[in-house]
Amino acid sequence: MHDLLGRRLGNYRLVRLLGYGGFADVYLGEHIHLGTQAALKVLRARLESEEQERFLQEGRTAAHLSHPSIVRVLDFGIEETVPFLVMEYAPHGTLRQRIPQGTRLSIQEILPLVRQLSSALHYAHEQGVIHRDVKPANMLLNQRDEVLLSDFGIAAIAQSVHGLNGKEVTGTAAYMSPEQIQGRALPASDQYSLGVVLYEWLTGDWPFHGSFTEICSQHLTATPPPLHEKRPDIPVAVATVVERALAKDPEQRFVSMQAFSDAFAEAYGNEIAAPDEDEVTLRRSLLTDPTLYADEGSRGASSLPPTMDAPVGGASVGIPSLPVVLSGKKTGVSRRKVIIGAGVALTGAAAIGGATWFLLAHATSHDASEQFTAPPSPTPASTRVPSVGTTVFTYRQHSESVLSLAWSPNGQYIVSGSADTTARVWKTTKDETLYTYRGHAGLLNSIFSVSWERNGKAIASGSSDQTVQIWEAATGNRLTLYQGHAARVLSVAWSPQTTSIASAGADKTVQVWDAFTGKIGAVYHGHTDSVYAVVWSPDGTLIASGSADKTVHVWEAETQQVVAHYQHTDAVYAVAWSPDGTLLASAGADQRIQIWDARTATQQTTLFISTELTAAITALSWSADGKRIASACTDATVSLWDVEAGKLVYTYKEHAAPVYTVAWVPDGPYLASGSADRTVRIWRGR
Ligand code: ATP
Ligand code: MG
Repeated sequence: MHDLLGRRLGNYRLVRLLGYGGFADVYLGEHIHLGTQAALKVLRARLESEEQERFLQEGRTAAHLSHPSIVRVLDFGIEETVPFLVMEYAPHGTLRQRIPQGTRLSIQEILPLVRQLSSALHYAHEQGVIHRDVKPANMLLNQRDEVLLSDFGIAAIAQSVHGLNGKEVTGTAAYMSPEQIQGRALPASDQYSLGVVLYEWLTGDWPFHGSFTEICSQHLTATPPPLHEKRPDIPVAVATVVERALAKDPEQRFVSMQAFSDAFAEAYGNEIAAPDEDEVTLRRSLLTDPTLYADEGSRGASSLPPTMDAPVGGASVGIPSLPVVLSGKKTGVSRRKVIIGAGVALTGAAAIGGATWFLLAHATSHDASEQFTAPPSPTPASTRVPSVGTTVFTYRQHSESVLSLAWSPNGQYIVSGSADTTARVWKTTKDETLYTYRGHAGLLNSIFSVSWERNGKAIASGSSDQTVQIWEAATGNRLTLYQGHAARVLSVAWSPQTTSIASAGADKTVQVWDAFTGKIGAVYHGHTDSVYAVVWSPDGTLIASGSADKTVHVWEAETQQVVAHYQHTDAVYAVAWSPDGTLLASAGADQRIQIWDARTATQQTTLFISTELTAAITALSWSADGKRIASACTDATVSLWDVEAGKLVYTYKEHAAPVYTVAWVPDGPYLASGSADRTVRIWRGR
């Protein structure tokens, strides 16, 4: 049916074949008036009138599903008896392509996928819709590599379409539940199919093989080879959960997709035992060891609790190799787990740990004059202070968009987080990576936020894998794995005064917890949509959170008492506190930087330039003297504003793609900005 290329179906022109399955071809279509793209699934068979009605019915059902992990159905129709379905175009392929057969994934990689897919199926079941064809080929990836389940109910149509032969549906048979083979699909049938997918991802193999008929008969009667035999290193509890989803009797499976996904997450977390008090004390002392980062000790040392001053012997600290877990106090967010585990073998970091330790410890034992300074320029004429906007350094080691960055407190290092799943720590004068942190490594993980601890010893990173991880800045050894969030973590911030972390994300919560014990201090539930930005007031008493719900909330970290609300006209992506703690700047999709009184929410100034219609402000950074604000924008620029005059003073245009992050060096005239062009650029800001 490739002859359909270039032809028109409904309001779409078919421009390219995207792929084909057992009974349909999928084309990329372009809307003839709007120019927008969509995927058109064109059935190869011509339908009899009775089948047409059924097809329309299925299309209608699918079109009514609205969930972030379900492909949107935009339209459907029948043109000259050729039935077609128009759906959202998913440009990053399928999980079938991304995870080739035979690949084994870690549980950590699987967990976020299980959550997204289960959430989509749970929702559909609540709407009375059974998917009937859960398999990796129907798990698509959008622009941001988020999973989208497609083909809801399509399997029902396939059955009624002529011309299907057994061979073509073998792929699907591998995932089909016994009751569905017998023609009685239930919601629990989708759970069984997802169970087969997990079995495949864990072992690299399907439970059953053979011809279509052979596979079907095994689904009906044969027990799958125990997961453990094929993959001895996975926890028994995890294997048990997957095997329960594969029960022949639907009644024996979990009561819902949500219960299944919860049990999977729980089984993973429970595997790791709780640490004893000594363990926690050791971690604390490691992070507060003055020999590690001799960054003008006065600042941090004065605020340390007495238990933290036991000196630990520098680089030779013995890190127990067994990860340990602490269950968070039950405070309203389910499945909260904190895993504290150093000695996790992190590729790269482990290998160069010793040398890095030395470099960092050595380089930081000097005064502030060693703070980032522009490297000497080759031309004598420009050895004087470079002018505003001069790029003095470019870091090019990331292989995907740079989404987040943070300077070390002494201004000599940067940690940058990327869509390439890594965070990299590097010296700001050398286009080389000191080490790469791979604790969030996983198929589709991006690091949306990084924050450097106030004494420079530890780094916090938040990722689309739904975890926050705390790791030692000098070595990349993981100290804490926090799993309190039920969706992507979008923002992470260390308290400027204590060892508290505030983290926020797509689960709409802001959580305040201790970096070392993982103990929850507070969960803020005030937002009604994803929280993109969380910042502490300089005195550490207040937290400001900005959300896609178009508001910024200011609240007390201890009591969660709301102090102020500020309303934007569109999603808020960035919030910054003035260094003196009186003002807040916030911005986002409405392209306006609002500056307002942090306690009364009274507006002071609005800063804006007319940018592209679709541009959004992604990050804000306030200079240490409080005089300037830098704003990063998806139109590939960074703007510098004079706060008092309320004026634009400079626009930096050296990035070739959207800029996602920007930060002033602590106490200095330079800025670092990170972009979808995969670079971090350091440039003069005043
Ligand atoms: P089956 O015929 O059993 O459903 P399948 O899922 O592989 O198998 P199709 O659903 O017809 O077959 O999809 C064929 C291919 O088209 C997919 O593997 C995918 O590569 C591509 N595709 C499907 N839907 C989309 C979409 N919405 N956006 C982008 N590509 C898509
Ligand atoms: Mg499909």
